[in-house]
Amino acid sequence: MAAHQGCSCGMKRHLLWLRADLRSIDNSALHEACLDPSALVAAVWFITPEQWRRHDKAGVQLDLELRTLQKLSATLASLNIPLLIRTVPDFAAIPQHLLALCQAEAVDAVFWNRQYEWNERVRDKAASALLEQHGIARHAFHDQCLVKPGDVLTGDGCFYSVFTPFKKNWLQQIHRHGVEVLPAPAARPVAWTHADAVPDSVSGFVSHVAPERAAALWPAGEEAALARLEDFVEHHIRRYRDLRDIPSLTDATSRLSPYLAIGAISPRQCWQAALNEIQAYGPSADIDQWISELGWREFYKHILVGFPRVNKHLPFRMDTVNLRWNDDEAAFQRWCEGKTGFPIVDAAMRQLRETGWMHNRMRMVTAMFLTKDLFVDWRWGERFFMQHLVDGDLAANNGGWQWSASTGNDAAPYFRIFNPRLQSEKFDPEGVFIRRFVPELAGLDRKRIHEPHGKQRDFLLDYPLPMVDHRAACEFTVAQFKKLGELPVGRADNKADSFNV
Ligand SMILES: Cc1cc2nc3c(=O)[nH]c(=O)nc-3n(C[C@H](O)[C@H](O)[C@H](O)COP(=O)(O)OP(=O)(O)OC[C@H]3O[C@@H](n4cnc5c(N)ncnc54)[C@H](O)[C@@H]3O)c2cc1C
Repeated sequence: MAAHQGCSCGMKRHLLWLRADLRSIDNSALHEACLDPSALVAAVWFITPEQWRRHDKAGVQLDLELRTLQKLSATLASLNIPLLIRTVPDFAAIPQHLLALCQAEAVDAVFWNRQYEWNERVRDKAASALLEQHGIARHAFHDQCLVKPGDVLTGDGCFYSVFTPFKKNWLQQIHRHGVEVLPAPAARPVAWTHADAVPDSVSGFVSHVAPERAAALWPAGEEAALARLEDFVEHHIRRYRDLRDIPSLTDATSRLSPYLAIGAISPRQCWQAALNEIQAYGPSADIDQWISELGWREFYKHILVGFPRVNKHLPFRMDTVNLRWNDDEAAFQRWCEGKTGFPIVDAAMRQLRETGWMHNRMRMVTAMFLTKDLFVDWRWGERFFMQHLVDGDLAANNGGWQWSASTGNDAAPYFRIFNPRLQSEKFDPEGVFIRRFVPELAGLDRKRIHEPHGKQRDFLLDYPLPMVDHRAACEFTVAQFKKLGELPVGRADNKADSFNV
């Protein structure tokens, strides 16, 4: 532990380094930074444009973060915790900048909540080492998961690669240790410095969703996130299992993913709300299912830590590096634009482009279409999603893409390929979702809308013919996967790496 430098007034100065935890309630690092009632506390948030470009950060997500920070800054100011904003090119520049800030302001200790992505962990290790060299205390907390990565292990001490046993162990640990939601901290006696203005935008990051639409769809701040959670638990959670796969129903799922991704709400708050509902009105399979989805979120975060190669554009299943994906830029472009000629795929891709979000089943349908019908590399799709999702999150996005591409852990078997028409008929039987996002098909009846016939497309509608023959495409893809069996298998370690989590 470092020696405290102290300031002239004798009060300790604590710095909260905010990252993907943009909230005042149930924020472990903020809570700990404020435990000493006399400590003066400030917060800092780094703008890192070059790093974000490398990470394919979506403008629509940054827009939500900036609007959330503006609200958080006001909340923190009311507690005498000024929020500082600093711009550096990338993560590599942060340690020096953080040190300079601590030295200039006589900071005694820096507090942060851990992130589990590889580059973020490298950054934190470097920052921690530099601060330590200069005698500044560091306090890092596990705050992103209900159970931290490294605590849910198989009997052999390995990370799980299959979800069901992971979930069983994960739930046991939650029940054993309990979940505590931390209150917002008490106000500080005074603010030691002035807050910076939070910018409305960052050069080079334009949201592809119109500002008014983004603000209406994704209202900013922890209050908005909590209101959404409360509304979902009160009115919708008990029909979750029946309705969660219907993309036309906007309230059937919580739409909390953007808020969980930037940390405007915590998984503990979600868990607690679900538990309160069970305690008040009894258990329900729907609530269990929703909790299970929170489990998938954590499963993929644990995978990032246990299998670091998935952070580095490598597949989980190493034998699949031998797949020779189809580098068809033109086909990829049609998929991106929602012009494949498959109505359900096109509606979903246009939902992403218009709203910055896509329904979970539609993510599976579109990802499987790209990787199995077009046999285009899952990493192309993963990247496009990150560039457009308001909830972009490396762990969940990578996990979802590798599930769909059959390159991941506990993934869809390569021979079980979604048929877009059948998915459409099953989950959008009346064509409500398709009509909403593909207006050129709005006049078709409930039977034809899933697969307009050729003449309708050519003469009546400005809508393309299907870009592939689904059955032939599936045969080709299955054959590619079958060939893998004849090639040498790549490395597939199942041990935690040497990082101390
Ligand atoms: C190809 C693909 C890409 C994806 N990319 C992302 C992404 O970048 N960011 C992201 O948050 N989710 C991603 N998901 C997971 C899932 O689609 C979204 O989390 C979900 O649609 C969010 O809607 P919701 O908040 O209404 O979820 P709800 O159904 O209300 O679920 C509650 C929460 O559980 C978590 N969750 C639900 N399903 C999953 C899942 N399959 N995997 C991991 N976590 C889950 C989310 O945090 C979600 O907010 C992806 C899935 C696929 C198939």
